[in-house]
Amino acid sequence: MVKKSVSLAGLSTFSIGGKVDNLVEIKNRNGLLTSLSYFKKNKISFKVFAEGSNIVFPDKGINGFLIRLINGSVYKIGNEIVSDAGVTLTKLINFSIKNGLSGLEKLSGIPGSVGGAVVGNAGAYGISVSDIIQEVECWDNGKIYWLTNADSRFRYRDSIFKHKPFVIVSVRFRLKKSSYDSLRKTSLEIISIREKKYKPGLKCPGSFFKNIIVADLKKTVIERIGFENIKYGKIPAGFLLEKVGACGMSVGDIEIASFHGNLFYNKGKGKSEEVKKLAGILKAKVYKKFGIFLEEEIRYFL
Ligand SMILES: Cc1cc2nc3c(=O)[nH]c(=O)nc-3n(C[C@H](O)[C@H](O)[C@H](O)COP(=O)(O)OP(=O)(O)OC[C@H]3O[C@@H](n4cnc5c(N)ncnc54)[C@H](O)[C@@H]3O)c2cc1C
Repeated sequence: MVKKSVSLAGLSTFSIGGKVDNLVEIKNRNGLLTSLSYFKKNKISFKVFAEGSNIVFPDKGINGFLIRLINGSVYKIGNEIVSDAGVTLTKLINFSIKNGLSGLEKLSGIPGSVGGAVVGNAGAYGISVSDIIQEVECWDNGKIYWLTNADSRFRYRDSIFKHKPFVIVSVRFRLKKSSYDSLRKTSLEIISIREKKYKPGLKCPGSFFKNIIVADLKKTVIERIGFENIKYGKIPAGFLLEKVGACGMSVGDIEIASFHGNLFYNKGKGKSEEVKKLAGILKAKVYKKFGIFLEEEIRYFL
C-alpha cells in the first residue's frame, strides 16, 4: 500500500525532514522483491531506507517514492543466521543470543535495521558488523546476487553499498557457539552503558562524525593529539570536537550535547539546514586546530 504525503520527521530518530510524496512500507523479502520489480518495470525511481537512525532528511521533503523496510524474517542454519534486511538489529541480536550464538552481542543497543547496519558497517566496542558477515544478498537494477564479504568492500563505517545503488535484501552471518547466559550478560551490560549516553527518546542520529583512523594520520599530528587518546586504533571525533569547544554549541534547534562533542541532537524543531551549518562550523574549527578533516558518519538523504 502506498501512503501519500507522509512526514519524514516521524520516520527518523533525528526527527527532521519535510514530507515524502509516496511511502511504500515493506514487511518481508517477497514484498520487497515484488515492489522492486514493479518499480523497475514501470521505470519509477525510488530510494530505500529502514529505521531512519542514521539519516538527515531534507527540510523540503522528497518528491517521488521512498521504500521503507519495517520487518522481515530471521532464521538459523547451524551456526549461521540469515536475516532479511528490514529486521531490526535488536531482533537479530536477541535471536542470536537466544540460540547461544556469539558475534553480534557487542552491537546490542545500536538502533536500526540489518540493512542499514550493513550499509554503514555499524559497530561498537571494537567490532563491526562486517566481522561476522558471510554474504550479502542484493538487488542491482533487476539482478539479484550474493556479494561475499570481500566483495562488499567493508571499511570503517563504509561499504560498497554506500557508493552503489544496490538494495540489500538479506544477509548471512557466521557466528560461533557460546552460552546464552554469558551472551545475555554482555548484551545487558552494554545496553546499560549506552543508555547513559543516549537517553531514551533523545532525538539524534547517533555519532555524527566518524572517528579518525590513526593509521591515516601523520606521526606529528598523532603526537600533538596524544597517544593516550587513541581508542581501538582511532582518535574519537568527540575528543577533537570537545577540544574546539563543541559541547553546548547550537544553531537553531540543533545542539551539541554538553557531555559529548560528537552528539548532535534536535531540541524540537531542528532543520537539516541547521545541522549542515553547525557541522560546517565544527569541521572548520577542527581543521584549523588539528589539520584533520572530519567526515560525516550520518547520511544526508537527498
Ligand atoms: C541513539 C543512536 C545510537 C547509535 N549508535 C551507533 C553505534 O554505536 N554504532 C554505529 O555504527 N551506529 C550507531 N548509530 C547509527 C545507526 O543506528 C546505524 O547506522 C544503523 O545501522 C542504521 O540503520 P537504519 O535502518 O536506521 O538505516 P537508515 O538510517 O534507515 O538508513 C541509513 C542508510 O542506509 C541505507 N539503507 C538502509 N537500508 C537499506 C537497504 N536495505 N538497502 C540499501 N540501502 C539501505 C539508506 O538509504 C541510508 O543511506 C546510532 C544511532 C542512534 C540514533
